Amino acid sequence: MKLPIAYYGAAVLRKKTEQVKEVNDEIRQLIKDMDETMRANNGMGLAAPQVSRSLALFIICPPVPNPPGHAEAYRYEKIQVFINPKISEPSDAMIDMDEGCVSIPGVRGNVIRPLSVTVEALDENGKPFKKVFTGMEARIIMHENDHINGVLFIDRLQDPPYRKKIEPMLREIKKKYSE
Ligand SMILES: [Zn+2]
Repeated sequence: MKLPIAYYGAAVLRKKTEQVKEVNDEIRQLIKDMDETMRANNGMGLAAPQVSRSLALFIICPPVPNPPGHAEAYRYEKIQVFINPKISEPSDAMIDMDEGCVSIPGVRGNVIRPLSVTVEALDENGKPFKKVFTGMEARIIMHENDHINGVLFIDRLQDPPYRKKIEPMLREIKKKYSE
């Protein structure tokens, strides 16, 4: 079932989330619903607070490039699930990349983040894993991990004039979705 999105201005996006106590069928259903919601909104990742659930859980689905000549440049494969994630060992190498957010429609901006990170988390079966992620995957993971700490990518924009520029857009989003 597709779930309603919590948009910029919603209090849930600014709250630090609770840990998931048990990875049960209810959590697995939430993950399925988040998957459907992410795809319906053309997201590459989605965190539980974005569907108004204040839980330390997010999913990612980075696009995979198709071979040349394919009608679609990218395809989406299976989602990866991160429950109660812990991020460590950020690389010294940093990278500047353009980001957007399903909860902040129409707003994009460049954010500098580490190129790679190590993540420890539970999967959808409650099984712990530890893995190094790099590039696009690492980028999406850090963006979604911010969500479970109440942080949004717009908080990390470096360029002060650009931050000023998007203020009216943010006010619009807040107004549009606050009813
Ligand atoms: Zn986001």
